Amino acid sequence: MPSNLSELKPSHLWKHFAKIITIPHCSGNEKPLGDYVLSFAKGLNLAAQRDKVGNVLVSKPATPGHETAAGVILQGHLDMVCEKNSDVAHDFAKDPIQAEIKGDWVQAKGTTLGADNGIGLAACLAAMEDTSLVHGPLEFLFTVDEETGLTGANKIQKGFLKGTRLLNLDSEEEGTFTIGCAGGADSEIAFPITRKKTASKNLFRLKVHGLRGGHSGLDINQGRANAIKLLVRILREAQDSARFEVVCLEGGNKRNAIPREAWAVLACAPAELRAAGAAFKRSFEKISAEYKAVETAAKYSFERVEDEKAFALTADCQRGLLNFVLAMPHGVVAMHPEMKELVETSTNLAIIRTGKSQIEIICSTRSSVASALEATRLVLKAVTEMAGAKINPKYGYPGWMPNLQSALLATLKELYKRTFGKEAGVVAVHAGLECGIIGEKFPGMDMISFGPTMEHPHSPDEHVHIGSVERFWQFLTATLAELG
Ligand SMILES: [Zn+2]
Repeated sequence: MPSNLSELKPSHLWKHFAKIITIPHCSGNEKPLGDYVLSFAKGLNLAAQRDKVGNVLVSKPATPGHETAAGVILQGHLDMVCEKNSDVAHDFAKDPIQAEIKGDWVQAKGTTLGADNGIGLAACLAAMEDTSLVHGPLEFLFTVDEETGLTGANKIQKGFLKGTRLLNLDSEEEGTFTIGCAGGADSEIAFPITRKKTASKNLFRLKVHGLRGGHSGLDINQGRANAIKLLVRILREAQDSARFEVVCLEGGNKRNAIPREAWAVLACAPAELRAAGAAFKRSFEKISAEYKAVETAAKYSFERVEDEKAFALTADCQRGLLNFVLAMPHGVVAMHPEMKELVETSTNLAIIRTGKSQIEIICSTRSSVASALEATRLVLKAVTEMAGAKINPKYGYPGWMPNLQSALLATLKELYKRTFGKEAGVVAVHAGLECGIIGEKFPGMDMISFGPTMEHPHSPDEHVHIGSVERFWQFLTATLAELG
């Protein structure tokens, strides 16, 4: 059983990975690793350059006789997510990652390992160095800040790349090709409010909490409840049988998360309290039965808060607001017609905040089809305008529309079957990837993403499967020969 990385195969790939994890490269601090790649390329006499944002590009000429092949780009991101367990003393700005072999896997001691995307980078360095490979003209693109904002991909200048086929090495499941991703964009909505003094000074907080939440793209098709939508539904249902005044509505805290909790502060006169409490309870019980398979820890509370003179929404404004939030779409809008598991379009009602003169609502919408993204944002705009509110559609990032007719996909599928005797899986993800942005900047770029098997990236439990790294390298080098 090997005890250190240098004993693993392929040895030159692991040698580069062992070096990479000694160089700090948290998102936003990729310069030292970029410097290393540049100097390594120069040592090999390969042309290398860095653009203004910090992306590094290295070119390697074709092996003799393969000069006329269309160029191939190998791409990975320089940054890693830096997370550690609270009981671990580790300074990501200077300490090397302590990798260890555990059975069939490599992991780090209490920190993220950076196999995402360090293995992909190591494969690039190994391919730069290896003179035994057969290939056409190659470029190696190392991007910055993928993890926190896709910044490097966003800032690539047109003309920076020559190749027309791109292999993104940032996937996490061996034997699966990723061929698409979602684009996304946020909408910020301002619902104007008018207030009046509350009739009662008895204030209560109605709160929905304990929901599962999750990622607004990857978990949007899991049937989870949205705390803001539930809260507003409870209030809207109760409004027909009970009297209360809404002072504020609050919920959600991240644009890319399904809201897990939301609450309203209400004014309710003592004589109305029993009816209101009963209506909320009835409504919540109905809802929790509806969601019982998924939201097993859903809770609600209706509790007195300190008495104070407050200003609630006027009756018309309250009715208008509840109707508006109820009518705003949330969840899966469409599944992909050919890739059955793939959410094509979705929207997340992410945040609601009460200000002095307006209520702010933020929605984030995703789709792998640009026109479907626009269509769903138009629905948000239409509902907003009907409610007399204002919408500010923020600029988003482009998607990568799956192309099942891609020549690159056909070649790699056939090669995979020939190499491993089984079919590769083909998927797309309902989240943003660098390929979406690169594809928009370089129209016609044929792209595919693959990598070795990794589990729990972005957390200290991150680990990478050793055998899958060896097969990943085998497949990558076979791919270069096939395309060369
Ligand atoms: Zn990654």
